[in-house]
Amino acid sequence: MKAEIIAVGSELLTPDRLDTNSLFLTEELNGIGIEVVRKTVVGDNRDLLAEAFRDALQRVPLIIASGGLGPTDDDLTRETVADLLGRKLRHNEEILRHIEGRFRSMGRDMPAVNARQAMVPEGAEILENPRGSAPGLWLEDAGRFIALLPGPPRELKPMYQEQILPRLQRRSSSIRMFHRELRVAGMGESSVEQRIKPIYTRYGDVNTTILSDPFAGVD
Ligand code: AMP
Ligand code: MG
Repeated sequence: MKAEIIAVGSELLTPDRLDTNSLFLTEELNGIGIEVVRKTVVGDNRDLLAEAFRDALQRVPLIIASGGLGPTDDDLTRETVADLLGRKLRHNEEILRHIEGRFRSMGRDMPAVNARQAMVPEGAEILENPRGSAPGLWLEDAGRFIALLPGPPRELKPMYQEQILPRLQRRSSSIRMFHRELRVAGMGESSVEQRIKPIYTRYGDVNTTILSDPFAGVD
């Protein structure tokens, strides 16, 4: 199966923050034979977000998105995906109680805006989030799967492992992906390619990429 990752958040388009969620997700997906064929980083903008999801849905059967599930106006993933799939958002009382309970345990009242996080697109499965307020969402649409996960890595990682991985394992084949890094010194890239080509062409489904050492003087 092929997948795309969409990392949502304007902060990821600044020099200050890095999209590390996609590195974690790629390693996990590869481990069950799912190839990540494209990653998109998109800011908190409804049109750009809709375009990113619309395009990805035309290309692959699995999209995993992170971020944009928070309570504030810039968190648009839930609404945008519901719109795109033509699903209504419905209030979920159980999620609201969970969010209120989290605030209560911190000795605070829940701000009214957090009620947005209790809105669920019709037909979506809720992915519980014991480590944060925003639940994740799992959607199936015309044979395609979409997972919407919260941005904070400490929430996303366990949610993936506990709730996405079992869903994907049920659907994945026995194919597995591995990567190996071979370090070569004293040869330029083209000479390495010449030497290595006859070896990897023998094994069929192998992708290679030859990288120069950015700190070396020789290309
Ligand atoms: P959000 O769910 O969009 O409100 O994201 C909240 C927090 O998660 C912020 O601190 C983000 O910087 C962080 N975050 C969001 N997306 C990513 C990502 N792709 N990689 C690493 N951290 C992220
Ligand atoms: Mg965000």
